[in-house]
Amino acid sequence: MKLTVETWQNNSILRAKSTPVKQTELHLYRPLSEAMLTYIKNPKNKGIGLAAPQVGINKRIIVVGLPNNRDEDRYSIILMINPSITRKSDEKSVDEEWCLSLPGLMGNVERSREIEVEWLDIKGKKMKKTISGYGARVVQHEVDHLDGVMICDKFLK
Ligand code: ZN
Repeated sequence: MKLTVETWQNNSILRAKSTPVKQTELHLYRPLSEAMLTYIKNPKNKGIGLAAPQVGINKRIIVVGLPNNRDEDRYSIILMINPSITRKSDEKSVDEEWCLSLPGLMGNVERSREIEVEWLDIKGKKMKKTISGYGARVVQHEVDHLDGVMICDKFLK
């Protein structure tokens, strides 16, 4: 499955609210999920996160690269179906973000420093994790895409 990344802030697919994947539909989204994982694992694509609407599909599926604590150059790549941020720390951090859907744009975005997120894996198993630091930033960025929100809406002036 070849993926094409949707771009720019006035794109109606990027701006739509994506719908959850039902347990009974999980198998239908396996090829897409695998293609998204392959895309992010390819260093040529220079991405550490991808949301299904970015490849033209308004379903609540994301792939995120979470930095390993010991070695900042290594990432665990995780597929999250129907991710839900169930807790956000009051403590915030500001860092530069970019987006595969906004080529050439970069800016500072404020995010919670730590989050708790729940999701389904490809087999429909419920997963839950507390994530802090850069990984928390990546998950918040990708979950925003599922609600039609992009970083250009959040750049600090
Ligand atoms: Zn993005």
